[in-house]
Amino acid sequence: MTRDEALALDAADALAPLRDQFVLPPGVIYLDGNSLGVLPTATAARVQQVVTEEWGQGLIRSWNTAGWMTLAQRIGDKIARLVGAGASELVVADSTSVNLFKVLSAALTISQADAPARKLILSERSNFPTDLYIAESLARERGFELRLADADELPALLDERSAVLMLTHVNYRTGRMHDMRALTTAAHAAGALAIWDLAHSAGAVPVDLHAADADFAIGCGYKYLNGGPGAPAFVWAHPRHAERFWQPLAGWMGHAAPFEFTPGYRPAPGIARYQCGTPALLSMAALECGVDSVLAAECRGGMAALRGKSLALGRLFAAEVEARCPQLTLASPRDDALRGSQVCFAHPEMGYPVMQALIARGVIGDFRAPDILRFGFTPLYLRFADAFDAAVHLQQVLDSEEWRRPEFNQRQAVT
Ligand SMILES: *Cc1c(COP(=O)(O)O)cnc(C)c1O
Repeated sequence: MTRDEALALDAADALAPLRDQFVLPPGVIYLDGNSLGVLPTATAARVQQVVTEEWGQGLIRSWNTAGWMTLAQRIGDKIARLVGAGASELVVADSTSVNLFKVLSAALTISQADAPARKLILSERSNFPTDLYIAESLARERGFELRLADADELPALLDERSAVLMLTHVNYRTGRMHDMRALTTAAHAAGALAIWDLAHSAGAVPVDLHAADADFAIGCGYKYLNGGPGAPAFVWAHPRHAERFWQPLAGWMGHAAPFEFTPGYRPAPGIARYQCGTPALLSMAALECGVDSVLAAECRGGMAALRGKSLALGRLFAAEVEARCPQLTLASPRDDALRGSQVCFAHPEMGYPVMQALIARGVIGDFRAPDILRFGFTPLYLRFADAFDAAVHLQQVLDSEEWRRPEFNQRQAVT
């Protein structure tokens, strides 16, 4: 492809105007929206308004008058539209890690009640570490065993000992995407429950939790939902499970009537009980702006259009890099149906310094140990010319060997 052909794709792109919703530093090609989404233009003004008016002037009254008490549910209903959940089925709360603890604990309790002999939690060896750590700790505490396998081995491992299949829909390192519906069906056929982590899916790829008949889902607010660093996360329970019992972190914000101040816990109806303590209002205000920036695509073809552009950006980038950088190996699935919204390349030795050299040029992706150069493609604000230019920069970094410079070889805390 030529750069002019990439520019022609941008000129014909119906999603192109959505880029105006964001603050993008000049000279930066941002390929890390899968790790920290960019800042929507609306966010600073909205957070300022919450600080100066709702907090500054409204003070405690704003819990009632500014909709603070219902904000977690309001944003939850918006995220629900992106993941195939119904209204009032999904709520914003806590972090992804904490929400995983809540839903995995819930799933184990349900499994224990229905089939006490089932003692296995099944997950993928390459799942995101926090998911595995939470499962390892809960398994130990609750007398279950965590069994890890490669993605392709999972269906065969589901049997009468399986309590829960716990997976991340899109793999954080390779971008490989599971067939949520097929694996959930396989889990149910074996009598197990299915939990899905949507950290790299919500706002990135079409998800239909009801069509997949999933049991529980959680997801992240600061990646493709553009909610800002450390944004609150979300949690969904299928309505058939939501009211079966309390979730383990029975805090007052999940109580049916927190301001009755009664000593006994009475869970709120439905997903509202999956809240725990007082929500971080400033972060929630920022998260709502981020979610709105994704929902703005609804009048331009919605998630289906975003998915089409994301795949096209990824294909363009992968083809250009493969043609220009024979030193690198494609580490993401070539097949569109198996790939999320990122494209990764591997190199056994120089992955880290190559990414540092790229970042110094304003092409921001990230590195995931031991060998992955990770590039996220967010169709809300990326242009085809950006994908093209990023591949050219990568080629220049390799051909010039500028990655050998000492400053690019010093490992920082966040890679
Ligand atoms: C990003 C990510 C998380 C993040 O969890 P936090 O609690 O926000 O730190 C968890 N799981 C997966 C799969 C992720 O990609």
